[in-house]
Amino acid sequence: MPERAIFLDKDGTLIENVPYNVDPSKIQFCEGAIEAVRSLFNASYRIFIITNQSGVAHGYFPEQKLAGVEMALRDRLAAVGVTLAGFYYCPHHAAGTVAAYALDCECRKPKPGMLLQAAQEHAIDLTRAWFIGDILNDVEAGRSAGCRTILIDNGNETEWHLCRSRLPHHVVLNLMDAANVILAIDRQPSLPAAPPYPALSV
Ligand SMILES: [Mg+2]
Ligand SMILES: [Zn+2]
Repeated sequence: MPERAIFLDKDGTLIENVPYNVDPSKIQFCEGAIEAVRSLFNASYRIFIITNQSGVAHGYFPEQKLAGVEMALRDRLAAVGVTLAGFYYCPHHAAGTVAAYALDCECRKPKPGMLLQAAQEHAIDLTRAWFIGDILNDVEAGRSAGCRTILIDNGNETEWHLCRSRLPHHVVLNLMDAANVILAIDRQPSLPAAPPYPALSV
């Protein structure tokens, strides 16, 4: 049976958004975020972080710094009993200044590359997975990969370029509400096929 997964954006969704921060001491979970992740983990979802880290391409910090971020997040989640299944980041940006990372890649959200890679490496059924993020580029990445999507409307999306491919399946105010939506929906048994209409008798 393929695994069920939750894909989580990092900045502004799981932790407070401190632009281009790689200092573990400045990592602060959003309010209620740890509880939300724990409730999903305890309901047998595998938890993945999916994050754009163009600070590498822009030369703001070396790629190796992201290992420290991952370790800090893993440690702090492990302290409440949550094992992180994966941490995927895109270090690229087409307008980057560091040549090795200055490219128009397939992994930077809104492209779905990181989700597709995680699904392949961890046998995830994308159609049963959820992507939670705080901007519509997250939603687009999730939809492109075939996931259900939840937008946390906490003010971080400011452009609202909405179209069918960027339309969230659900909109909530915080990660706890997102977890509650997921748990409520996935708890429902799927609807049986409707019976055929009886033939009209005349
Ligand atoms: Mg974000
Ligand atoms: Zn990339």
